Amino acid sequence: MRALKGIAASPGVTIGKAFLLDSEEVSVPRRAIREHEIPKEIARFEEALTRTRAEILGIRDKISQEIGKEYGDIFNAHLLVIEDRALIEEILERIKKDKLAADTVFSEVLKKYVKSFSKIDDEYLRERVSDISDVGRRVLRHLVGGFRTSLSELKEKVIVVAYDLSPSDTAMMSRKNVIGFATDIGGRTSHTAIMAKSLEIPAVVGLEAATKRIKDGDTLVLDGINGVVIVEPTAAEIEKYKHERSRYLELEKGLRRFKDLPCITKDERRIELAANIELPEEISSVISHGADAIGLYRTEFLYMNRPDLPLEEEQYHAYKRVVKEMAPKPVVIRTFDLGGDKFLSHLDIPHEMNPFMGWRAIRFCLARPEIFRVQLRAILRASAHGKLRIMYPMISGVGELRQANKMLAEAKSELHAKKISFDEKIQVGAMIEIPSAALTCDILAPEVDFFSIGTNDLIQYALAVDRINEKIAYLYEPAHPAVLRLLKTIMDAGHTKGIWVGMCGEMAGDPLLTPLLVGLGLDEISASPVVLPEIKKVVRALSYKECREIADQAMHFRTGIEVVNFLRERYHGALGETGRR
Ligand code: PEP
Ligand code: MG
Repeated sequence: MRALKGIAASPGVTIGKAFLLDSEEVSVPRRAIREHEIPKEIARFEEALTRTRAEILGIRDKISQEIGKEYGDIFNAHLLVIEDRALIEEILERIKKDKLAADTVFSEVLKKYVKSFSKIDDEYLRERVSDISDVGRRVLRHLVGGFRTSLSELKEKVIVVAYDLSPSDTAMMSRKNVIGFATDIGGRTSHTAIMAKSLEIPAVVGLEAATKRIKDGDTLVLDGINGVVIVEPTAAEIEKYKHERSRYLELEKGLRRFKDLPCITKDERRIELAANIELPEEISSVISHGADAIGLYRTEFLYMNRPDLPLEEEQYHAYKRVVKEMAPKPVVIRTFDLGGDKFLSHLDIPHEMNPFMGWRAIRFCLARPEIFRVQLRAILRASAHGKLRIMYPMISGVGELRQANKMLAEAKSELHAKKISFDEKIQVGAMIEIPSAALTCDILAPEVDFFSIGTNDLIQYALAVDRINEKIAYLYEPAHPAVLRLLKTIMDAGHTKGIWVGMCGEMAGDPLLTPLLVGLGLDEISASPVVLPEIKKVVRALSYKECREIADQAMHFRTGIEVVNFLRERYHGALGETGRR
């Protein structure tokens, strides 16, 4: 099969050469080196071993102290792996003989070891496989960590093909040379996919076997609208997709005419149309796509791809830039949401069995007040330069919300004491992305000025469907009746208590669902800049009255598929071509 089917993650059609990043967990490119680079590669490998050793010793000592020596000693087995002379010699030999980069050789030798250990008939030795893989990943992370920057330094235009890409890898991609990417794993709402959309790089994720089927240098057609990748396309296929690409670009151009029109329904209900961003550099795209506001600034990207934490001054300047460039339009800054699928190696967030349900976002911030406080102060200081709103991620109940608000009040007092100005009336909101918060919105509402519904997480928790797992992506249904009921509960509770309710999850960016969301009473829609003109087109084509009727009807269906079919049938033709579905 030359046509691979995956999940459409970022719209657009692109044709180009594949650049293959290999490996199951850490992306490792196969990289040849020149003779004179051999000593450098050997030094890099030795440095990675030294760092890994220090890392393992640190973990061993910590665990020995906190849980007990017998548990700490388990890590001695890990140390044995990186001290294994045969392994080290083999790698050094191959770097010299095969003239390959240290990470390429290491990843190949590691795979060979894992394979041969898995076949051994002795249970004890077989269990060493997980030690070897674990240590191997650590070494690779140290080796690749330095190399990955090259994704931003590619010399020619390529379509990146990888088992997986982390959100931080994606953030480093240069839009100039990465014209598309395809991954084996991942879902539509993974942060890697979200980042691709922000950068306007067409992407298909969840292809399952892309790295096996595609070879480095293969010509690919990547269709990010329908989630298809064609390997070595025929001349006729290339022609067809060139035509598709022109059609898509025309459609995009046509939608630009909505840019300066207000986002109001036919009967003049105004919906605030806002954009989601990850980096300050995206503001030009926000403005060119006609957003009324920024509804979600994911600040955690400021903390990624670096060896240290951003200082208050640096954060202040980044936030100030966004707020000033958008003024007088409002900007919702979300306090950082690390954990889940966004990691920081230097923050000491341990590997968890369930990172999405683990120590992330506001949970981490409240446990590390010295880090959170710095961000709160930087945000408050930036609020003096425009219209800024602040929002906390992953609130699960009123206790966390009060704790966060208490820290915000303390940060305000500190600034008062130092006579540093900030917006005294700054609006504060909670993301509603955990079912417990959704079901207690009436309790949360008196503590905040607004809610913003994070459907990416809300859906994964409500339906118990991991948002980045392609195998169960078919169960990830935004229009599932359970999700619609939660949305209605949130909007009704917010409005009863007199606060506005927005949505910043990917669901907000699906034009097919716009009439339903407007009908449920949503006050603000925040989505990737690229989809905003289309959303505006839909809002302007309908009346609020019609939308309410649609929402009423939609609430009565028994499955998500029925809801989607109903919306498709009702709007087929009425709204013209949407291009993304
Ligand atoms: C969400 O969960 O819907 C959301 C907007 O936050 P994130 O995607 O960053 O988790
Ligand atoms: Mg979220």
